Amino acid sequence: MTRNDLGDRQRDDLKGRLNHDRTPARVILTASRDVAATRTGQNLLWMLTNLLVRQQDEIASIEVRLPAGIPVHPGISPLIPPEGDFTELLGIGMCRINPQLGTINSGLTTVAIRVGPGALPEANYGLYASAAGWSGYTGTHEAAWLPTDENPIGAYVAAALTAGEAFKFLRSVHPEYGEMTDATWFDAHGMAVVDGPRLGPQLPEAIPGVTATLAGVGAVGSAFLHLLYALPQLTTTLTAIDGDQKGIELSNLNRYVLFCQDDLGQPKASRVQKMFEGSGVTITSRDLLWQDWIATHPTELMDLVLSCVDNNMARHAIQDALPRYILSASTFELRVQLVAFKREEDEACLRCYNPLPKVKSDDEVIAGLQAQSSEARAEAALEHQVVPEQLETYLRDPQKHCGLITGDILRKFAGQSGEEWSVGFVSAFAGVLLAAEYLKRSLGECAERLEGLGNMIRFQFWIPGAAVNEVTHWPQDPKCLCSSAFYRAAIRKV
Ligand SMILES: [Zn+2]
Repeated sequence: MTRNDLGDRQRDDLKGRLNHDRTPARVILTASRDVAATRTGQNLLWMLTNLLVRQQDEIASIEVRLPAGIPVHPGISPLIPPEGDFTELLGIGMCRINPQLGTINSGLTTVAIRVGPGALPEANYGLYASAAGWSGYTGTHEAAWLPTDENPIGAYVAAALTAGEAFKFLRSVHPEYGEMTDATWFDAHGMAVVDGPRLGPQLPEAIPGVTATLAGVGAVGSAFLHLLYALPQLTTTLTAIDGDQKGIELSNLNRYVLFCQDDLGQPKASRVQKMFEGSGVTITSRDLLWQDWIATHPTELMDLVLSCVDNNMARHAIQDALPRYILSASTFELRVQLVAFKREEDEACLRCYNPLPKVKSDDEVIAGLQAQSSEARAEAALEHQVVPEQLETYLRDPQKHCGLITGDILRKFAGQSGEEWSVGFVSAFAGVLLAAEYLKRSLGECAERLEGLGNMIRFQFWIPGAAVNEVTHWPQDPKCLCSSAFYRAAIRKV
């Protein structure tokens, strides 16, 4: 495999903080009948499998050891059939995401994961996962499996945390930067690391969801939607906006938990509209960039925007439409951030501390290309549909050969630093926290809502139990447009 494969976006070692010494590995996943027969158990086992199977470089094979004859609960995932034996269906889902898995029946290292209590199979590393209501657990110590309601949030939290610990072990996280956890519970209602399971409010039998605009159906947006899929009692209306012209690509699949190989090339927003047809979640898809959508469909903007975009240009465009509320979920390396913005004077906005990237001059782009190896240049040239020899000739004397590469083409190379590093369990966690906050708002008044001086949760996977993984404040930037008299006057008129 070369660039742009399933493992591409998470392969880099992040400046020595990770390495590949223990990969590829074999994973053994197990649970008792009592656990695997529950909806919570199946939500956890499915999302964990979903995330592990996308770690293509790290995991060569996954062996699912579950008792036979456990029927699947309906509505676990659009990626697995709705009826049949749960273990067999997990296998179908895994194959749809990563068909190479299972062809190599070995690995350098073995990781055993048990969902719920019980013995761990022999392995180089063993992990337990558990869930209760809004909270999820991962750690090397066994945790109780509590009778719970069927809230998928705790199950998905546990899946993301456990996939994260498996990844960190397999990529030998450097002890200076991160450590493995013995036992960590995270409560997605209070948005905090807690010392034991927190059930949180019981979900009602029917949940009328807040209508919202979903900006971006990428890694975070698809995890958010997967969680809504697992809530059969939810009815809501969403408008999904995504203008990525290339649609779903193979290098997206390391973290797009709602999509598989069958979806490659499809536009993201239209694809999810189709996927949710017949469910309680009605999606109107717009395969458009936010700016083009707002210009052509100005009446469709909802009071609540769920921002799952991955760049500050798009964040500025969303803020410029002045939505009343924005929940912005984002990731950076192994860190997740969710911020709640409210359109009020003296409150931060989505532009605050999210600067636009500096535009490179032509001379800077040329100097950057000249500093690269000829192999890297050839690869970049092909990516931008430029003949590599023409690029080489041009770079030898750009003034003399200015006719070979136009300014427009040159600017395509301006972002040549490559796609940002990203991995599935981090985006999944961001999507799940966003879904938890969305659910809290749909359920009515809630003392634990993100707002005011506690408008942000940051969570980093390097040390999951660290005290810094808590609710904090995203302040207003005094240099931002939202601090100006112009903005204050504008929001008074909306
Ligand atoms: Zn601002």
